[in-house]
Amino acid sequence: MVVLGIESTAHTASVGIVGEGAQVLGLASDMYRPPHGGIHPREAANHHVELLPDLVTRALDAAHVRPTEIEAVAFAQGPGLGPCLRAGATVARMLSLVWERPLVPVNHCVAHVEIARVLSGLDDPILLYASGGNTQVIAYARGRYRVLGETLDIGVGNFLDKLWIGLGGTFPGGPALEAEARQGSGEILPLPYSVHGMDVAFSGMLTATLAHHAKGVARPDLAYSVEVTAYSMLTEITERALAHRQRGAVVLGGGVACNERLRTMVRTMVEGRGGSMFAPPRSLCVDNGAMIAWTGLLAFRSGGTVPVEASAVEPRQRTDLVATPWRAG
Ligand code: AMP
Ligand code: MG
Repeated sequence: MVVLGIESTAHTASVGIVGEGAQVLGLASDMYRPPHGGIHPREAANHHVELLPDLVTRALDAAHVRPTEIEAVAFAQGPGLGPCLRAGATVARMLSLVWERPLVPVNHCVAHVEIARVLSGLDDPILLYASGGNTQVIAYARGRYRVLGETLDIGVGNFLDKLWIGLGGTFPGGPALEAEARQGSGEILPLPYSVHGMDVAFSGMLTATLAHHAKGVARPDLAYSVEVTAYSMLTEITERALAHRQRGAVVLGGGVACNERLRTMVRTMVEGRGGSMFAPPRSLCVDNGAMIAWTGLLAFRSGGTVPVEASAVEPRQRTDLVATPWRAG
């Protein structure tokens, strides 16, 4: 079975073509990078509308697959920015109608879990999902993926992006801060460490870091302190999830999971508890169409198709409200 998946929840437009066993046959992505400031949903959506037709062609070419071989068309239904979601959904509906193939809606967060789960070979891991808009610890229980802990304000990636822009840089901030942090002196500045039970918050750290900056602290020291503090917070709530659930495995997802320090900190924690940690290759950590295609394939097999009339996007769709029948039994 071969499924095409479209991702367009935020800054990235991406088309993936996936076969059995999550074999990625073709993947074509393009990220919207605003010239300055953060992402304006309408501008990102315009970017997606412009690029998606070409990305479909590129993914098909890369996969050496003809449209007639595509058995279903999956798209990210939510959560995400409304105009961006609608851009992807419109292209998916059009392909579904033209190719006469079923349309499969996919939850973006569940897709991050499923691609990490299949690539890791781990049956029932906990997911630390750290991206721009989302920061959640997710585990499966009784028919659903449940959010055990999450950010109370902004996503960790959004925090890194806002900070980097505040320090004079441009989006995305995460990779730039990672490079800066490597030049740090090793001194850790005092920053708010906001863990509230299983939840985290980042806006206080943003204010405090910008205040250090205003007093003349060098960017590498700011970056290093932010990485150590923010990733310790994420490692702590992931460890508490492991302890509560008595599960030995953690997988990572989301763009911030590209970060070497975060990977190392979580791996050290998990292995210290005798468990295992898996992070997908970076192209499948960030938002991508392959994870949508793979989760679409799972959903399609268990009957998860919708008619075009019932395929509205859901910008606030909650991970724990989405049925996952393929995991039953
Ligand atoms: P996503 O929304 O999952 O595609 O992830 C995008 C977010 O990941 C942005 O906020 C980026 O700043 C962040 N990001 C990407 N690479 C890294 C990295 N190496 N370290 C930290 N954050 C990163
Ligand atoms: Mg994502």
